[in-house]
Amino acid sequence: IWQNVTNYFKSELTEMIYNTWIGRLEPKSLENDVLTIHAPNEFTRNMINLKYADSMAKYLKSITSRDIKIYVTDPSMDNVEVSENDRENFDISSDETNAFNKDDLEKRNDESMVEDGLLKYDDSKDYKFEEIGLSDRYTFENFVAGKSNEFALSASIAVSKSPGRSFNPLFIYGGAGLGKTHLMHATAKAILERFPEKKVVYLSSESFTNELIRSINTRKNEEFRKKYRNIDVLLIDDIQFIAGKTGTQEEFFHTFNELYSNNKQIIISSDRPPKEIKTLEDRLVSRFEWGLIADIQKPDFETRVAILKNKVETEKIDIPEDVIEYIAMNVKVNIRELEGALLKVAAYKSLMKIENMNLDFAKEVLSKIISDTEEVEITIELIKNTIVSFYDLKENDLESKKRSKNIALPRQIGMYLSRKLTDLSLLKIASSFNRDHSTVIHGIDKIEDLVKTDNKVKDDIEKITEIIRSK
Ligand code: ADP
Ligand code: MG
Repeated sequence: IWQNVTNYFKSELTEMIYNTWIGRLEPKSLENDVLTIHAPNEFTRNMINLKYADSMAKYLKSITSRDIKIYVTDPSMDNVEVSENDRENFDISSDETNAFNKDDLEKRNDESMVEDGLLKYDDSKDYKFEEIGLSDRYTFENFVAGKSNEFALSASIAVSKSPGRSFNPLFIYGGAGLGKTHLMHATAKAILERFPEKKVVYLSSESFTNELIRSINTRKNEEFRKKYRNIDVLLIDDIQFIAGKTGTQEEFFHTFNELYSNNKQIIISSDRPPKEIKTLEDRLVSRFEWGLIADIQKPDFETRVAILKNKVETEKIDIPEDVIEYIAMNVKVNIRELEGALLKVAAYKSLMKIENMNLDFAKEVLSKIISDTEEVEITIELIKNTIVSFYDLKENDLESKKRSKNIALPRQIGMYLSRKLTDLSLLKIASSFNRDHSTVIHGIDKIEDLVKTDNKVKDDIEKITEIIRSK
């Protein structure tokens, strides 16, 4: 029967998606109409429950005419005895509403629906996500998982399954273009799909501020409060922008407390962890730390390739493998730019009606983007060369034994800048200046003092740094 199931999914899914999710499952048992499957990790288990268990159950029904429940386990559950009862509660396969959300549903029905201006849902699932600012493109399904984002993704999926009851607040942080907004939209939509009656509000912290200001100007303070304190799930994107805005922080603090104490889910994103957001009030920082803080790191090479391949598949673009790898190898820090590079190649290809895109052509197309986006790494050679020309020295003066002041000072500045602008160890710096480690320490200390007392040295260092950075 498992063979049938896998064949069915093979025919329904792309090969990549099949291999990522279904291909890694192992059937364990089929007893009393419960099919137990083992997933390689918790993350996959979540994903199967979320995305594929339903259709698996439906398919099984179509071939067996029985209501077979799907129960997915993972290694973290291996040593836990699971009673029949637990299975009932775990199961989300055939009947979406499990114990607690049925209660929620009933409670909701008694409450009046939200006033105008608030999101309003009925049970028909055909409202448009765009209307409430959620992009159709951002789903869990097309979010490519990798080491860099797996934790944030798992946390988001967990929250989407039991908002207000797993991690609250969920705080996601990471650099620009690494997928925070994507994850938030996906979470908001998954919650609405699962709990169509819930009031979900997604907005940027800027919109939150603007709306607050507008409401103050039009004396609709009360309405603002009521609106934000009456929702089930609040997602605020890029919270770092409320830093320093005292009034907004104050209002947000009260909204937060109100929602939190009523077990309403709060999801927040930021470009850095709460502690590092300057002028974010301590009381807000500590609130954010009550829940789960999940980071998104820069994607590794494999993930970058996977993201590009996923894009190629969903957008149906025909780009050869070596071009994909070239892009993945060269655009490293920002997924938005990674996709941008791919789309640019695709655009040229179709504009210029090129049948067979080759690597050279792609390099040509991308030359501007790739040299612009990648920060040039500052090397010790670059620092030394800049100093030599800045002080008009001879080529090997810095490494030489010469100790005259007009050479010794630039040399020490070189050591100081090498330490400041590169990640190199003192030992590496020492050997590059042909000196020992303690001489380097002494040199760096000396310049650190001079920067405070000697304006000429300070100016020189600023100018040199600028030249280095501009190269
Ligand atoms: P952020 O909000 O962190 O600045 P976004 O969520 O806007 O970043 O992501 C930038 C772009 O990269 C979006 O088009 C998004 O779909 C895409 N992206 C980011 N991470 C992934 C991922 N893991 N898989 C697929 N696409 C991703
Ligand atoms: Mg964003």
